[in-house]
Amino acid sequence: MKYIICNKPGQINLKIKNVPRLKKDFVLVEIKRVGICGTDLHAFKGNQPFFSYPRILGHELAGIILKKNEIKFPLKIGEKVVVIPYLECGNCDACKLKLFNCCEKINVIGVHSDGGLQEKIAVPSKNLIPVNSLSFDEIAIIEPLSIGYHALQRAKIKPANKILVIGCGPIGIGIISLALSFGCEVIATDFNLKRLEYVKNNFSKAKIIETNKNLKKQIQIINKGSLVDKVFDATGNKTAIESSHNYVRHGGKLILVGIYKDNICFSHPDIHKKEIQIICSRNATKNDFKSIIKFLEKRRFPSNSYITKKVSFDNLPSDFKSFYFKEKLLIKAMVEL
Ligand SMILES: [Zn+2]
Ligand SMILES: [Zn+2]
Repeated sequence: MKYIICNKPGQINLKIKNVPRLKKDFVLVEIKRVGICGTDLHAFKGNQPFFSYPRILGHELAGIILKKNEIKFPLKIGEKVVVIPYLECGNCDACKLKLFNCCEKINVIGVHSDGGLQEKIAVPSKNLIPVNSLSFDEIAIIEPLSIGYHALQRAKIKPANKILVIGCGPIGIGIISLALSFGCEVIATDFNLKRLEYVKNNFSKAKIIETNKNLKKQIQIINKGSLVDKVFDATGNKTAIESSHNYVRHGGKLILVGIYKDNICFSHPDIHKKEIQIICSRNATKNDFKSIIKFLEKRRFPSNSYITKKVSFDNLPSDFKSFYFKEKLLIKAMVEL
């Protein structure tokens, strides 16, 4: 079978290998779609923390069940499934508390171990959810949307909360869409005017502001003098993260969804006087995935426009560089098998 491997930063090749053998309680999934996200692009560029090479990328996966070696789970051959790419150890303190998304020894398929850019992959059956109600494209965007859903759960979001989303990439857009569906008042900001235009065209209830020095003032104009209850950083950018507390009201929350690979620095008096809660949000849970399946079933999310580029599996090695360096508006690239 064919697979695509990133041998070292900047080098990605299509190769052939044997179909994987099935261990007990594992299922063989035929991959139909692989969403490409910032993590994959950073891995390709060589600036992804916790990454080793060679590696088969791909953690946003949709497929069908080909073969199974399990008895406990009622999954049927031929069923459409989403792969939950987070493999937990099951034994650490976080796992004992069922906080599997932040397991001490978490193994993310496509990051810490080989991922889904291959025709077939063997995964534990507990990491699959049947999703026969959605298309393969929709199934492959469950994972990035679940990241946003998890962040909103971490923030304990409530209807009518005023929120600011910094960064209108694939994760930020998920947060914007979900927060609107919860009844929040949403302001979205980005440097990238194309992405802001995308938000304006697809989510008319969200207010958009270009990220610049006047951001705080513009938020206060929209909110009649007030800042926001909750700020979500979906950039992972040092400068953006370090200024994000400026937009949180006194007693509000700052939720860090994007990750910057080194130290970040806040002025202690600034965050202390506001008694800001700074909350990190990592990965997502199985329940987050299930909630996103229900959300997508309502068909209010613009899945078609969210996927801004489609690529065939065979062409991916040659197309990969252009994603990073040439595309003007890239929300989500989708690899079709
Ligand atoms: Zn991703
Ligand atoms: Zn664990």
